[in-house]
Amino acid sequence: MNVPQLIARKRDGHALHPDEIAAVVSGFVDGSIPDYQLAALAMAIYFQGMDGDETVALTDQMLRSGGLLEWSADGPPKVDKHSTGGIGDKVSLVLAPLLACCDLHVPMISGRGLGPTGGTLDKLESIPGFRTDLNLREIRSITERVGCVITGATGDLVPADQKLYALRDVTATVPSIPLITASILSKKLAENLDALVLDVKFGSGAFMKSTAAARELATSLTHVGTQLGLSVSALLCDMNQPLGRTAGNAVEVRESLETLDGDGPADLVEVILALGAELLQSMGAASDLDAARTVLRGHLDSGRARERFDSMVVAQGGDPAAPLTVAQELVIEAGRPGYIGTIDTEALGHAIVDLGGGRRQRGDVIDHSTGIKMLVRIGDRVDEHQPLVRVYADQVAAHVTAAIQAAVVIAGVAPAATPLILERVGN
Ligand code: URA
Repeated sequence: MNVPQLIARKRDGHALHPDEIAAVVSGFVDGSIPDYQLAALAMAIYFQGMDGDETVALTDQMLRSGGLLEWSADGPPKVDKHSTGGIGDKVSLVLAPLLACCDLHVPMISGRGLGPTGGTLDKLESIPGFRTDLNLREIRSITERVGCVITGATGDLVPADQKLYALRDVTATVPSIPLITASILSKKLAENLDALVLDVKFGSGAFMKSTAAARELATSLTHVGTQLGLSVSALLCDMNQPLGRTAGNAVEVRESLETLDGDGPADLVEVILALGAELLQSMGAASDLDAARTVLRGHLDSGRARERFDSMVVAQGGDPAAPLTVAQELVIEAGRPGYIGTIDTEALGHAIVDLGGGRRQRGDVIDHSTGIKMLVRIGDRVDEHQPLVRVYADQVAAHVTAAIQAAVVIAGVAPAATPLILERVGN
């Protein structure tokens, strides 16, 4: 294969053949194609895109770069949910044990915070002792025993994604729909699932700022997943303000526990029930979405979901009774009266990184005790000096306080209400 010619064809807008894509992926993983050629190809893909067949081939080849999670044929269906990431997005912490209460198994391979968006693994590591580095044997055995597991990627599953993602991260080629599609789906397909639901976020705190871009990503993900034999649907969910009230690490675990105890904020519960109902219905475990929501709500209200979460924490080495460490509080007030018009949610995510709750670069140690609690939502009427945001940090630099205050924009008139879940994409 002539790699420079192949890069030039993609640069000039031509489609690559599945055999060429297979050769590129295997050459990259075995080191015979150097990083600089893959970086050039990734940039060509960033500008020229890939058609559906190319994206299917890329996803399939990345999946084939490693092993699969193997399950016994007679076990319960395996399902999972993936979010494209946001601020305050703690859905996975509640949804995995909730689905396990419905006789579904959830082997959730999750990620760390990426830029301003939080990561499920970082949040769970606020729990003393909680391990997110399980090996394949542990993932299988905890899934089969407890019904759910939430852990990090292992080197055995999709090594092509680990290598390519690291390269994309440093070559400004992350925001490419075919590359994101192949990255997400290759990892989910390696879990050997029966069904997947995707939470594709749009808005000021999301990767995809516009609904059109989120719809394009959701369409690509559902098309490629379906082509590769996975039952997959997506919900487009609003990320123009943090989901729930809190964003950070320990504070989000605390809010997840309240939600598992049946006392979660309405928006968070709504997204959890909607995503869970999608999976229950696609697995034939409920006659329709309303019936599925009733079942899920029952597991939250009865305490069964909380018990399942605690069992997962114990199985992963954590202590569910250990207190969560949360830093001191400082309140940020409204500078003027009016209505909460918009929230720059990404700026709030960057502020949490500045408080030590996220990473500026790979390997940074994070402070799980920091974060924020939103005391207002878009559309709320506020008076001058009314508390807007509670900040958890032992020390807060003046520029961080100013950034948080500036992120919550007060308008003279109330904005029009917008839906939390815009639409469903999929079959
Ligand atoms: N999350 C992933 O797993 N991969 C991407 O490319 C982007 C977000």
